[in-house]
Amino acid sequence: MGIEAALSTDTILTTSLRRVVNWARRSSLWPMPFATACCGIEFMGTACSRYDLARFGAEVARFSPRQADMMVVAGRIGIKMLPVLQRIYEQMTEPKWVISMGACASTGGVFDTYATVQGCDQFIPVDVYVPGCPPRPEQLMEGVMAIQRIIDSDGIPPKGPDGRRLPLNIAIEPTHRVRPQPIGVTIGR
Ligand code: SF4
Repeated sequence: MGIEAALSTDTILTTSLRRVVNWARRSSLWPMPFATACCGIEFMGTACSRYDLARFGAEVARFSPRQADMMVVAGRIGIKMLPVLQRIYEQMTEPKWVISMGACASTGGVFDTYATVQGCDQFIPVDVYVPGCPPRPEQLMEGVMAIQRIIDSDGIPPKGPDGRRLPLNIAIEPTHRVRPQPIGVTIGR
């Protein structure tokens, strides 16, 4: 990589163990996609070559919770799926993080029905909310970077006095400006 040439052989680098561990953790977030609907397709697009989530070290999607430390809830959650979501979250490795991707995961979206969970944050601690229907890949990557910044700063997920994990509640801003319709739309009588 050329680093040998850039550094003279008698150079000594010092750092703290915590810094190295945080660097390794932030550079190898392994997602557990809980993808139930169209936002899951957008997650797949984010991991593909055009957007290349691998640039952030987060492309290794794992479908075993024991090998994942970042859950991405992508899509609406039915009431019957809820115990599965909670069990998968509990089985993930510590320290673990949760991204709520899209309107359905965060609020139930347009599915204001008794059968759809009206926000997964009522049942698992959500760290980052990514808005959109579906969110753009850039927004999801911004969510991943938000978690990386938290890990960089300390790396310890906050817990309450009762030992329960506290959510970080970070909201990602849209990364694009809403533009008007390219053509005028009129509704006939
Ligand atoms: S937020 Fe929109 S794109 Fe995402 S799962 Fe719901 S309906 Fe589909």
